[in-house]
Amino acid sequence: MTPATTFAGQKVALFGLGGSGLATVRALLAGGADVLAWDDSTSSRDRAREQGVTVSDLRDADWSGFSALILAPGVPLTHPEPHWTVPLAKGAGVEIIGDIEIFCRERAALAPKAPFVAITGTNGKSTTTALTAHVLREAGRDVQMGGNIGTAILSLAPPSDSRVHVVELSTFQIDLTPSLKPGIGVLLNLTPDHLDRHGSMENYAAIKERVIQGAGLAVVGVDDPHCAAIAGRRGAPRVRIHVEGHGGEAGDLIVRDARILDEEGTCLADLSGIGSLRGAHNGQNAAVAVAVARALGIAGDTLAAALRSFPGLAHRMEGLGRRGRALFVNDSKATNADSTEKALLAFRDIHWIVGGKAKEGGIAPLASLFDRVAHAYLIGASSDTFAATLEGRVPFTRCGTLEAATEAAATAAAASPAPEPVVLLSPACASYDQFPNFEVRGDRFRALVKALPEI
Ligand code: ADP
Repeated sequence: MTPATTFAGQKVALFGLGGSGLATVRALLAGGADVLAWDDSTSSRDRAREQGVTVSDLRDADWSGFSALILAPGVPLTHPEPHWTVPLAKGAGVEIIGDIEIFCRERAALAPKAPFVAITGTNGKSTTTALTAHVLREAGRDVQMGGNIGTAILSLAPPSDSRVHVVELSTFQIDLTPSLKPGIGVLLNLTPDHLDRHGSMENYAAIKERVIQGAGLAVVGVDDPHCAAIAGRRGAPRVRIHVEGHGGEAGDLIVRDARILDEEGTCLADLSGIGSLRGAHNGQNAAVAVAVARALGIAGDTLAAALRSFPGLAHRMEGLGRRGRALFVNDSKATNADSTEKALLAFRDIHWIVGGKAKEGGIAPLASLFDRVAHAYLIGASSDTFAATLEGRVPFTRCGTLEAATEAAATAAAASPAPEPVVLLSPACASYDQFPNFEVRGDRFRALVKALPEI
């Protein structure tokens, strides 16, 4: 844990008692702060009380005595409208921050030069964070990984000069971190996302830009127009990442045919044959990890071997092994057409399990990739709409459930004459019609595949 010593002896309001909220309360108490915490949900309040947290309705509090309001990142600061705690804090002149800001203040106080890698972007944050942490660990570094992935930042060990923090940041978290100045700031890419929570694309991009604005070194993917403009505004030191054929123009690190090259064309890493890093999008993620590793003094064989041993993250094009020639892939995290596009691009002869609670536009944007699909197996609430999109273009079966779809797809793949048929769960849909979340959906698929007979 990182005790929040910068609030020692002060009174602090905290709203949002989920996982990171509780971790923040513990860190504040350990640092000697006096915390009044609240949540709109009774069950969250009860859970917090069970853990010994003083829960008190902030509507009745004397706001003039608070040094800060600590908000959980899921709580609206601005859009669609500020949470009720926000005007109370502003009215009393109380600053509003999040747990990442507390970490930044601890770092500034304890070890301002402590290596701190902050990673954001619309897509690929978790993969890049996990990969970067993996590479640094394999190179023998003391690594703490967390933030928007896995462990709440204040539950990690404190910053120190000999320890690297690799932290994934969501836009909500950045918005609550006014003094964000990481040693290395990474911005992967920017496409419209969560705009209901950020007002406009311009506002969303401006918040994301802050990760590299104040960074010692900026690492930026330059293949979309927003990031290209941001990279242009940011001076040295910076590393621009460009994946050939993906829209951008020039880069300092270039991904070409699964190889990562520097400007002179020297190959720094070869991703071919690394199952966990399939696809051009993972080229972008891996090039970022290479840029960060090099900046921290890791290169050559150590870097190449570390990339090769990356196990990948569950539910993101996760290889589940083979039955005969057929490869099984769990891409349950693909909850929209954009994400599923990456998976369809990575394979051919695909037996595609698709469907759930559809997003706007459904799978129509994927039509140009339908020639990669041997057969589609429809599940969930989207079956009628997706059947209409596929009609006459891709053979399909309405399976209803994931169980029926897995069985049908496995049987067809086993009988396929293709050299390497792929059974791919990449639903392009949210899971809520049939599952509590994408993790449960992916775990179920993994269990179903495991239970299939060996061929
Ligand atoms: P995030 O944490 O930003 O949601 P993940 O690493 O969990 O991202 O990946 C989620 C999905 O996003 C992946 O399954 C893949 O389809 C897609 N994706 C991953 N990396 C990239 C990238 N660099 N560019 C575009 N899409 C990506």
